[in-house]
Amino acid sequence: MNKSQDYQLTIVVPVYNEEDNIYALEQKLSAFLPLSLCKACVLFVNDGSKDRSPERIREVCDRNEHFFYMDLSRNAGLSAAMKAGIDHAYSDYVGYMDADLQTTPEDFNLLLKDIGSYQLVIGIRADRKDSFFKNFQSKIANGFRRMMTNDGVQDTGCPLKVLHTDYAKRIPFFTGMHRFLPALIQLQNGRVQQVPVRHFPRVAGVSKYNLWNRLISPFMDCFAYRWMKKRYINYQVGDNNLGS
Ligand code: UDP
Ligand code: MG
Repeated sequence: MNKSQDYQLTIVVPVYNEEDNIYALEQKLSAFLPLSLCKACVLFVNDGSKDRSPERIREVCDRNEHFFYMDLSRNAGLSAAMKAGIDHAYSDYVGYMDADLQTTPEDFNLLLKDIGSYQLVIGIRADRKDSFFKNFQSKIANGFRRMMTNDGVQDTGCPLKVLHTDYAKRIPFFTGMHRFLPALIQLQNGRVQQVPVRHFPRVAGVSKYNLWNRLISPFMDCFAYRWMKKRYINYQVGDNNLGS
């Protein structure tokens, strides 16, 4: 049996070369779990890290009952790590946060308040603590994506989210999809709520994304989304004798 079945929420944390963040993550996440509005566990997805992240993840999972991990055999990128986490989560809800601690798990409770009525609750990074250049890139990318997808979402890249697991598992996955989650939930007629959350500077480790992979590929993905929206299959089951 997959251990996440015993929980209502699985918090997926993708990790790629984040050795200097693992102990701080342990501290923040273990402090949050007893306070969580619903029974929660943590799933570290080690995306083929080449530093000491894998050993440290094992170490913190050994001493925390509600921490689990999985390794990807080689680095596959954030969207793949997120998909692996979602594929292996069997709780009602799946949460997401980055390993860089630019958001805090405490704020999951702000999102969880609304998860009963929305299929995705996403943060809005109030008062972003990133460089002027990164904020600028992100503003352009968010603005263009909003125009192309019409998702009405202010901060699609916010690394703090909670989704209904059944909706998350139906997302059409592709490299770069992690930037389109709200639009991909809306494809399935899911409802999206946005809630302001706190944001902090990255104090350890380095950003894995640059101008190219933050702007150019996501630009092309917007066209793929438009195509998918036209062709996406939504069906509703009528009478049947299969049972649930
Ligand atoms: N990450 C990953 N695989 C990758 C690149 C990044 O799992 O190939 C993780 C990384 O460890 C972090 C999250 O994805 O937890 C977001 O990465 P990062 O903070 O570097 O991106 P940024 O916030 O700068 O866009
Ligand atoms: Mg980051």
